[in-house]
Amino acid sequence: MLVGAQHDLTIRINGEEYDRIAYGRQQGFGEGWSIPCHDCAALEDQLHVPGCDMEQCPRCGQQLISCPCSIEVEPEEEPEAAS
Ligand SMILES: [Zn+2]
Ligand SMILES: [Zn+2]
Repeated sequence: MLVGAQHDLTIRINGEEYDRIAYGRQQGFGEGWSIPCHDCAALEDQLHVPGCDMEQCPRCGQQLISCPCSIEVEPEEEPEAAS
């Protein structure tokens, strides 16, 4: 869900919060931002869908899905169970 991905503007890595890097803002890999992201179809300046292999880690600059940083995934908010 590309729309939903736009809400998570930051990511927690090793206990610190970093701004996520939008498509076309990463440096060092990838090129050709005139076409949508090949993996998640994000457009330039849109955030990638979580898990997209084109998202760059804001901490180390590698691919977010394969870099050595420990990404802290915030648990989804569970709706209160009806009592
Ligand atoms: Zn993407
Ligand atoms: Zn990293």
